Amino acid sequence: MGSGARELDAVPLVVGPLYGLRTWRTTGERGAERLRGPYSGTVWPTGGAWLRAVCAAGDAHAVPAAGCACGVYGWHPTRRSARSALAVRREVAGIVAARGPVEVHAEGFRAREGRPRALVLHPRSNPHLIQRLAGAYGADVVEVRGADALIDWCAEHGIGLAPAALAALLGAETEAPRRRRWLRLGRRGEAAARG
Ligand SMILES: [Zn+2]
Repeated sequence: MGSGARELDAVPLVVGPLYGLRTWRTTGERGAERLRGPYSGTVWPTGGAWLRAVCAAGDAHAVPAAGCACGVYGWHPTRRSARSALAVRREVAGIVAARGPVEVHAEGFRAREGRPRALVLHPRSNPHLIQRLAGAYGADVVEVRGADALIDWCAEHGIGLAPAALAALLGAETEAPRRRRWLRLGRRGEAAARG
């Protein structure tokens, strides 16, 4: 299946922004820590800048590509994804904002660009580290007791697709784990529904 920029540009532009839960590892000297991708090792840019994902497979295709694993990952906020995000020791949980072409699936999404929207401070976090990182990245700090409170916070702040919206987006014509939908988010996530 082709997945060039022309095809990505042809998919509908939708209301944004799109947010997901995820984790990051940290790197760097104490006081100057940075976030990096747990799998790619990519250090995320600070100051509210967007990370533009590249394909580790080295293929010359636009990211994210169908059938590939490339892109900035986020998981739809659910009790299960929230528990997973908070359970990973030595990683920082947070909320990532997506921009550009994105592949949405039942569990989450892969996007071309992302930046941290908020970092989660919970009872097992290092509060000083979370505050330093949030300051460096221009991200909010969400202080919660656990996964349920994190999900509640997401719901209150419009973070994540509502289950009904996700179901409508993915349709019901194929097996749930295989459902995929390509979207393109506005540059600033502004409402710009089309097509
Ligand atoms: Zn790829």
